[in-house]
Order: sequence, then structure tokens, then C-alpha cells
Amino acid sequence: MPLFGHREFDAHEQVVFCHDAASGLKAIIAIHDTTRGPSLGGCRMWPYAGEDDALTDALRLARGMSYKSALADLPYGGGKSVIIGDSRTMKSEALFLAMGRFVDTLGGRYVIAEDVGISVDDVEIMARATRHVAGTRSSGGGDPSPATAYGVFMGIRAAVAHALGRDSLDGLHVAVQGLGHVGHHLCRKLAEAGARLTVSDIDSGAVARACKEFSAETVDPEAIYDVAADVFAPCALGGVIDDQTIPRLKARIVAGSANNQLAEPRHGAELARRHILYAPDYVINAGGVIYISHEGPSFDETEALAHVARIRDTLGEIFARAAQQGVPTSEAADRLARERLRPVAKAKTPGAKATAAA
Ligand code: NAD
Repeated sequence: MPLFGHREFDAHEQVVFCHDAASGLKAIIAIHDTTRGPSLGGCRMWPYAGEDDALTDALRLARGMSYKSALADLPYGGGKSVIIGDSRTMKSEALFLAMGRFVDTLGGRYVIAEDVGISVDDVEIMARATRHVAGTRSSGGGDPSPATAYGVFMGIRAAVAHALGRDSLDGLHVAVQGLGHVGHHLCRKLAEAGARLTVSDIDSGAVARACKEFSAETVDPEAIYDVAADVFAPCALGGVIDDQTIPRLKARIVAGSANNQLAEPRHGAELARRHILYAPDYVINAGGVIYISHEGPSFDETEALAHVARIRDTLGEIFARAAQQGVPTSEAADRLARERLRPVAKAKTPGAKATAAA
């Protein structure tokens, strides 16, 4: 399994393989870029089929965090960690304490938070072994998922304004895939704004809750791509936009919280070719990381949410640039992120970098 020659390797600064025999922890921490500051990113727990799948996820997600922080104008770099294992059966206090100790060895170059398969409670356990955590109840903001959902909601508004030329979501039909931490909160915001919902999840309890609370309709998980909705909101796992699903989409807009929605970068171009407006995942789902970046003794929720709401303007700029430059929105977002990373890199002195990463 090559690292420097890996297809997802993109000049990542550091990749740490972690093993703790006592707890059974097997994890990978990937730090992509600390130019803007310490790398910040969630920890995912997933039963990967192989170590290469875990490394691929860690490398891709870490780079995504660098771009996300740059476009959200945060003083952070990009990092991500993955724990190889089934979150339903393999969680233990010892496992999360071991993970916390590994994070601590990095001295603040990586700040850990929750992600798929990892709850705020799990991060609270890690916090007993390291202070380099974010998104805990004690650090100020708590669970970032409602803020992520709010950012996705504002992003959908930007996409609807650009593609459909309307401000109101009243009567808009949204198909939501995944009713977990983010999907459920997103449904609430959309229902409050008058949108009509069709939802799917592999968890029938989550579906029943959404149907009851938001008068949502439901379809089988595999049928969500065929729903004749205005917006398709992927809020489950990544890689759902691919050669098989794109031809089935009826929606004019793809805008949801899932990370790495495009199976491959070329699928961004394919969406554009079919006049489907894609809200780049790492831009629209930045609400959680923006929110936790405000944590600290002077945490002000109103200020944090106002910062999250700026996702709407950033996406508006990306949609306009993509149209002007004749490139897919995914490419316009990457270009803007690289532009925002570069000036900081040029302005930095080696001393400044060490300070930022401390
Ligand atoms: P979660 O684990 O709470 O929820 C995911 C949901 O998707 C679960 O209910 C699961 O049953 C469902 N699901 C899995 N496979 C499915 C399928 N094939 N069809 C339909 N539903 C399916 O995760 P979350 O925190 O809500 O995050 C959702 C997505 O958003 C992830 O990709 C995550 O990386 C991304 N994201 C989350 C945050 C956050 O603040 N939580 C921030 C940024 C990005």
C-alpha cells in the first residue's frame, strides 16, 4: 500500500498509523495542510473492507478539510482521522482513550472532533487524554450537527436562487437521503420553510420519526435517486453521485451534507453537462466546523451562526464563477480554495507556521 504514490496523496504533511494492542484500536490520522493553522477534522469510525479503503478515506477527507477551512475563512488547516471498526460493536472507553493519546502525541497539529460513527460522547472520552478536541460540550458549542444542517439549509437557498430564480422554499420538493445527525435537523429547517419532503434511510426508526415530525413521504433507500424532486440532498455517505445514479436524477440541484459526494471528480462535470447545479460538498457542509471554530470562553452562538450563514454567499460566488468561467461548480470551488490557500502560504514565515500549528 504506497503512501507517497497513493492516488489520493496530495502533498499531505503527515500521516500517522495508530495501533493500540490493549484496546484493539487501529486508526489513521491524516494531516493535509497546516498553512492556515492547526489541522481540524472529524474522526470517522467505519468497518472498512481493507486498510487501503481507510487510507483513501483519510487522505481525501483531510484534503477536503483544508479546502473547507480555506473557503469558510477559518484559521485552520485540514486533517481527518479514521478508526477501522464497527461502531455498533467495537466502541469502548479504552479505545477512545487510546485514540485521544495518539492525538495528543501530535501536540496540537491535529484537533479531533466527531464524524460518522463517532458521537460527542466518544469525543468527550478522548478529551480525557488530550486537550486537542473540538465539538465537545465542555469546549463550548457541543454537537456541531445542527449547525451543519443550518449551513446546508442556507446552501440550498443559494442553489435555489441561482438555478430556479426564487428566494422562497415554500412548496419546494426536497429528497433527503439519510436522516442521521444532520439529515434530521435539515428536514426540520426545510419543513419550517414550507418545503415538501421525501426521505430515505436504511434505519426504519429514523424514517418513521421524520414522517411523523415533518409529514414527510418516504421511499426505499435505493429509490431516492428517482424521486421527481427539485433538490436531492445526500446526507448519508459519500460516493453517491456516480455513473449509475446521475442518469436517474430528476432534481435540478444536488445539495447535501455528505462528504465526498462525487464518486470521482469527473462526475462534477457530468452534473454540469446535464444542467444539474451541484453545491460542492465541502463548501455546503462547513457549518459544523465553522461553528466549533467559535468555541472558547467567549463563545457567542449568534455570532457563530451568522458565520455559518455566510455559506450562502460563498456558494453564490462559486455558482457565479462557474458560470462565468464555464467550469463545473466543483472545479470553481477547488480553484477558489487553492487561491485562498496560496496567499497565506506566500505570506508565511517558518516561525509563523510553527506558531500557528502550536
Ligand atoms: P450519521 O451517521 O448520524 O447519519 C447518517 C445516516 O445515513 C444514518 O441515519 C444512516 O442510517 C443513514 N444511511 C446510511 N446508508 C444509507 C443509505 N444507503 N441510504 C439512506 N440512508 C443511509 O451521520 P451525520 O453526522 O448525519 O452525517 C451525514 C453526512 O454528512 C456524512 O457524510 C458526514 O460525513 C457528513 N457531515 C456531517 C457533519 C456533522 O456535523 N455531523 C459535518 C460535515 C459533514
